[in-house]
Amino acid sequence: MQNYWSGKAAVVTGGARGQGAAVSRLLLNAGAHVHVMDILPTDDRAWQELYASDGAREGRLQVHALDVASPEAWEQVAAQLLADGLTLYALVNNAGITGPRNTVTKASLAEWERVIGINLTGAFLGIRTLAPLMPRGAAIVNVSSTVGMTGYYSAAYSTSKWALRGLTKSASLELSVSGVRVNCVMPGVVDTEMIRSHTALVAALQNIIPMQQMGSANQIAEVMFFLLGPQASYVTGADIAVDGGVTSGGTFWPVGRAIGAL
Ligand code: NAD
Repeated sequence: MQNYWSGKAAVVTGGARGQGAAVSRLLLNAGAHVHVMDILPTDDRAWQELYASDGAREGRLQVHALDVASPEAWEQVAAQLLADGLTLYALVNNAGITGPRNTVTKASLAEWERVIGINLTGAFLGIRTLAPLMPRGAAIVNVSSTVGMTGYYSAAYSTSKWALRGLTKSASLELSVSGVRVNCVMPGVVDTEMIRSHTALVAALQNIIPMQQMGSANQIAEVMFFLLGPQASYVTGADIAVDGGVTSGGTFWPVGRAIGAL
């Protein structure tokens, strides 16, 4: 398994920062050539950490300031991959936004379409465009959420994350014929830009995590990296919660604490 990633290409969306940057770093450190797609301009400060990696210095990082919701963006990345002549072994559909987190009756059509367009349609376009370039043994990881498993007030976000699990299962059936695995991770509460600024939400969420701490971007990225690699060669169509116990017992965690059972 050593040197598995050497000479292989990977595409990670939403990789300028957060969990996407963390999995990009793991892939670069393992020797892969990583194409990162993110809507942030390439001179945004968010990229600095990736730019400072050994992989970047060795010329194995290519960044694309592109919107995953655009079919043309994906065609551009596919063309670049073909021009590079490296084979694509990994696709991580990680880019996501929360939008304003409105409920069903309060969400505007514009909020609905933008959140679904990036979180769900972006992943669909990525798989549709790049899966045909992937050989037997390659793998795709979609980044859903624990709110893709439970009810959540933010209608568009929650719906997009539930639907990503469905997309994962459809794609895993189709692509198992060509030997490409497709899995899904469902992060819980992760300390990234996405939630950091919403201090009231972060404070309230602390009560539902049995492991009593937020996850780090790296803790989620390690599971993505595992699913992309040969150690997970018999795993496809799975959705794996990486959430410190939230979906397994988060409901009864505060209850057990409140009544003194825990
Ligand atoms: P983040 O906001 O730090 O990272 C998201 C990245 O996606 C950013 O770099 C952003 O610029 C990029 N992006 C946004 N819209 C894009 C677009 N249209 N095209 C390309 N790139 C785009 O947050 P994160 O926590 O690292 O989020 C990564 C994934 O994890 C998201 O799909 C998110 O929904 C999911 N998630 C996050 C949490 C959490 O608690 N942070 C929990 C569950 C799931």
